[in-house]
Amino acid sequence: MAENKKIHNALKQVHTETSCTSVSGFSVSGLATYFQLPELDFCIDMGECPLSATSINHVFLTHAHGDHGRCLMRHHSLRKMMGVERESIYYMPKNICDGAREWIRAEAMFEGVPESKFRYPEIVPVEAGELKFLEYRKDLALKPFEVKHSIPAMGATLYHYKKKLKDEYLGKTPDEIIKLRESGVDITREVYDPLVSFMGDCMGESLLENSHVFQSKVLITECTFIAPEDYAMSHKKGHTHLSQITEALKELDDQVKCEKIILSHFSMKYPDKYIRDMVEKEIPEKFREKVVVFI
Ligand SMILES: [Zn+2]
Ligand SMILES: [Zn+2]
Repeated sequence: MAENKKIHNALKQVHTETSCTSVSGFSVSGLATYFQLPELDFCIDMGECPLSATSINHVFLTHAHGDHGRCLMRHHSLRKMMGVERESIYYMPKNICDGAREWIRAEAMFEGVPESKFRYPEIVPVEAGELKFLEYRKDLALKPFEVKHSIPAMGATLYHYKKKLKDEYLGKTPDEIIKLRESGVDITREVYDPLVSFMGDCMGESLLENSHVFQSKVLITECTFIAPEDYAMSHKKGHTHLSQITEALKELDDQVKCEKIILSHFSMKYPDKYIRDMVEKEIPEKFREKVVVFI
């Protein structure tokens, strides 16, 4: 296989459209990973921070590796520099919050911020299985889950939350509905619609261990290794091999409800064409239209 001589520029973004948001960003293993979902006011990771990310208020850090988190505070400081007054919110796994605070403080001291002026950004610890409404988007809720990687790491599903009329009241007139509501009857039920699931960095088995991610409209998952001879390597490094995505799709088959499956975080050693050819060849025909190669 020819070495990939293409220069990867993390500020040169890849774009794709989905039915619930556009996705812009960059994701190459070891270089940088970030995804901007502007319609959901949400960013996944911040391995690089283009100016277009500064208008986004919520950022989720999947794990502490530098290619995913390096520019978290750049996001914070660029916003201040550009006069964005709203505090950005940084969600991250609870078990890395202390480390993140130490790192943020050390960076500020290194940059010469006086002790008296130093202030931590808004960090929100998240735990697996806990539903959290986004700070500025109460119609969106986040539910993280643990994944297997070389260090503690999490993925999450973003749900659209709404109240819907209970089925038994669907045929009622507006007047009847108003009367029912006034008499104190609870006529609504809560609905959580899974919009986007993202895995962060993980081993392939994390997909089937969290198979609910295949219910989301959009699934963003890593696919670091694709060459058949790299299978053992993918396990050793805590990453996913393309064949494991293929297996998961075959096993779940009709249970896969995703409209789009975005494959990202490819190893930089693979040329673009090789990646596209292998994905085309390996992904079962039934799912090929749904799969987007994020390069
Ligand atoms: Zn990574
Ligand atoms: Zn990683």
